[in-house]
Amino acid sequence: MRIVFLGAPGSGKGTQAQRLMEDYGFPQISTGDLLRQAVADGTELGRRAQAAMDAGDLVSDDIVLGIIAERLARPDCGNGFILDGFPRNLPQANALQPVLEGIGQQLDAAVLLDVDTDVLMKRLTGRRTCSLTGKLLNIYYSEQSELDACTAQGGELIQRADDNEETIANRLDVYREQTEPLIDYYRSAGLLRTVDVDGDPDTVYAALKSALKLAN
Ligand code: AMP
Repeated sequence: MRIVFLGAPGSGKGTQAQRLMEDYGFPQISTGDLLRQAVADGTELGRRAQAAMDAGDLVSDDIVLGIIAERLARPDCGNGFILDGFPRNLPQANALQPVLEGIGQQLDAAVLLDVDTDVLMKRLTGRRTCSLTGKLLNIYYSEQSELDACTAQGGELIQRADDNEETIANRLDVYREQTEPLIDYYRSAGLLRTVDVDGDPDTVYAALKSALKLAN
């Protein structure tokens, strides 16, 4: 399947995309992860992206489109992919069309992870990534055994630089102003599927698979 994930920061796009990738093999393509890697590697692209990321603003469309076009052209995307965090605005959504046509693919669905914005601050400030496995965890919501499993193996629970309250507030504003219009964009295209994200990750995952008509 070729899927776009829509949803506010903290709605669980990364967590759910990781699960789909594990169970069905569609690669999760997270522009945020690819940009963070470029920053960590100290590449030219990373240097150009860093200031916007630190502020919680969007990185310029040309940078992100270059990353996406390059990533989608790789062979592992031939049977499908999950775009996690892209597109983030209407110009990116419009630019995605010719990229997909160029590789002979088209989107099957755009999934909106619909979340009550009141819970987002806690989800985002509590978010951590295990340095060993890359698994997304949360100090408020994950099982203590899962958190301990990471540290017991010598891993660290890493917090993203942009998961602080000030940057989060800006990221939520950017989402409302620039990304939310994509909900109508994909609804008009007949691709929108909405999944309620108020439950625990297992419940959300079951609803997601049902929305995508994926077999268990
Ligand atoms: P994320 O991990 O998706 O929350 O993205 C983290 C940060 O990376 C965002 O706050 C932006 O600065 C940048 N970013 C990720 N994806 C995009 C995109 N599609 N367009 C522009 N900036 C992006």
